[in-house]
Amino acid sequence: MKRYKDLFFDLDDTLWDFKRNSEETLRELYHEYLAQELGKENYAQFILIYHRINERLWNDYKLNKIKKSEVAYQRFLFTLEESGLSNASLARLLAEEYLRSSPAKTNLIAGAVEVLETLAKSYKLHIITNGFTEVQIPKLHNSGIRHYFTTLTTSEEAGCLKPCGQIFNFALEKAEAQINESLMIGDDPEGDIRGAREIGLDTVLFVKHHKRIQTESTYTISELKELLQILS
Ligand SMILES: [Mg+2]
Repeated sequence: MKRYKDLFFDLDDTLWDFKRNSEETLRELYHEYLAQELGKENYAQFILIYHRINERLWNDYKLNKIKKSEVAYQRFLFTLEESGLSNASLARLLAEEYLRSSPAKTNLIAGAVEVLETLAKSYKLHIITNGFTEVQIPKLHNSGIRHYFTTLTTSEEAGCLKPCGQIFNFALEKAEAQINESLMIGDDPEGDIRGAREIGLDTVLFVKHHKRIQTESTYTISELKELLQILS
């Protein structure tokens, strides 16, 4: 088996439980600022609208159509509007609160700490993450896993989002790592796997819940601890 030296991890939903942490934050914000006006029972509806709008705005951001500050603000502005509450100052408040509160959440994907603890003894570990630097870096510190990583690369710093090749090359250079001794591990078949493969990196796709998926990754796992078998 090939000997790797440097392991590059995606952060959101690979190590840091984005789905759960985001959900907790949105629920708290809803109950604090919106439940009275929109009704406690309408939370689920609000979240559906939020996710749809957030995804659309992120796609626009990836295509360079809007700025990151607009994503952060407009996802709340438009969700409020669609929920029948046009309130720009409230949207601004929610945007700020979300960016302040969500990185403070500490739920990690099952097995993350044990796996990082073990791998850090034999490999150099790194992060490559899409997202806003001021949000992504605190997540690592607050959830207590920052010290496992030698380098951190965000899309903001690299100047483009995964799957662009530039972000992987930027991270490799920063880590002083060789392509043929490096492995990219992530949960996004497009961003993490296709992007990394295109510059010649070996990859591990982390597919939760044993979803059947067409993938071109070097390895596929459904639990983080399976990494220990691949890399033992
Ligand atoms: Mg991810």
